[in-house]
Amino acid sequence: MHKLNQFYINGEWQDAGIVGHLEITNPATGGTIGEIAMGNADHINQAVAAAKEAFKTFSKTTKKERLGYLERMLELYNERYDDIADAIRQEMGAPKEFSKTDQAFTGRRHITTAIEALKNIPLSEDREGYQLRHEPIGVCGLITPWNWPINQIACKVPPAIAAGCTMVLKPSEFSPLSAKMFAEIIHDSGVPKGVFNMVFGDGPTVGATLSEHPDVDMISFTGSTRAGIAIAQAAAPTIKRVSQELGGKSPVILTDDIDLEKVVPNCVWLCMENTGQSCNAGTRLLVPAKLHDQVVDIAVKATAGYKTGNPLEDDTDIGPLANKGQFEKVKAILEEAEKHYPKPVIGGAGPVEGLDADHENGFFVKPTIYAGLDNDHMIAKQEVFGPVLAILPYETLDEAIEIANDTPYGLSSYIYSNDDKTIDRLTSELRTGMVHVNGASLAPMGPFGGYKQSGNGREWGQFGLEEFLEIKSVLKK
Ligand code: NAD
Repeated sequence: MHKLNQFYINGEWQDAGIVGHLEITNPATGGTIGEIAMGNADHINQAVAAAKEAFKTFSKTTKKERLGYLERMLELYNERYDDIADAIRQEMGAPKEFSKTDQAFTGRRHITTAIEALKNIPLSEDREGYQLRHEPIGVCGLITPWNWPINQIACKVPPAIAAGCTMVLKPSEFSPLSAKMFAEIIHDSGVPKGVFNMVFGDGPTVGATLSEHPDVDMISFTGSTRAGIAIAQAAAPTIKRVSQELGGKSPVILTDDIDLEKVVPNCVWLCMENTGQSCNAGTRLLVPAKLHDQVVDIAVKATAGYKTGNPLEDDTDIGPLANKGQFEKVKAILEEAEKHYPKPVIGGAGPVEGLDADHENGFFVKPTIYAGLDNDHMIAKQEVFGPVLAILPYETLDEAIEIANDTPYGLSSYIYSNDDKTIDRLTSELRTGMVHVNGASLAPMGPFGGYKQSGNGREWGQFGLEEFLEIKSVLKK
């Protein structure tokens, strides 16, 4: 059993004292695997005070010193790589192999790119009439979700350290195991006390105290649009910078000149990977009306081939939803959809069949596809955050663009076409922060972030580092 009863404050693990606790659940079995202490405003105040004190000296460290800490962090991360992957598998039920190749991998990638970005950025440059300096913004509050738990921590902590900031991390209360390991790595990297602090707790108590704190200069948040609004409101009276990575309902547009047998299974996976719990999941598949039925047949066949179940088995494609709350939310959406609309073409609200006794109380749902939808259907509109795909037919490219942009979100979009003119038009007219053409992956140094209600600000690489920097112009006679 994991007992996480300490917070990392001012360079040491400190007992949480008398506080409430939350069970850590293995979502694959529904069983309890430990508990975490849930912090309060006092813990945040102590952590912020430590970060404020440490900022006085850490902000003056050289690039070389900060690169030294980050390089040591990368070595330590690589040493503990398999343990981190296993922690992610336990706390969110990600399939064993996927935990390693994708989830844990993101930590290595973001530490590496923070090092690259720091090496390449000129922190001081002479420009015509002034000198431009980039300086650390100050004490940062970092609030992260559970769906890519290490990814989001590593999108924030290494660039904040690279910038010379100090920080308080509040990871998701549903994914504390990997967060604790990351904190241990930072401790072992020799970063001075108070630079990095971590308090476990819930959003409305610990997260809100951090967001409104007058000594916090910036909040970097990843999570739901709902929490993003609450955080921005709490932060507003202190005019702190708020950088946000929020939800999505990303469109995937297929044109009529592509090889459907090759492309459609990849498009289905864009939605189902990580049990559909990715902010940039391609959850709306827009297809030419004349090809709709053919696309549905291929998509159903691909989905029927997935194995949903025990994350420890090598051939499992889809694990459980990551926690009980998410499981109940997705089940409720599927039940509601079945009450009001025609049935899905595969999947649906019922229990997953064929699970063994150890896993029948796990948080599993069936990968589900709804087809022939218009954009007003709840499955096409709502961010489900589960393995649920909406297929929508379109008649003309104009209509496809209109449907794709008809959402409050604007994180990612995906295009599959062999026609350069069509690709040019779509890449310029889609209102999303990222556009992937013909299966291209994210670029490690490229900016990650969204338009509209998918957030503001950018993470990853140089853009992610700049988020943690202030700009000063020095004017000399
Ligand atoms: P969530 O918003 O409920 O929680 C995220 C974090 O915010 C947690 O640490 C939580 O404790 C905290 N929090 C919640 N309410 C808060 C409040 N009022 N004040 C301060 N902190 C608060 O989201 P979740 O359920 O953990 O994650 C899923 C959501 O995150 C999805 O909507 C998904 O699209 C989004 N997401 C976005 C990105 C991105 O980069 N755009 C990446 C991952 C997840």
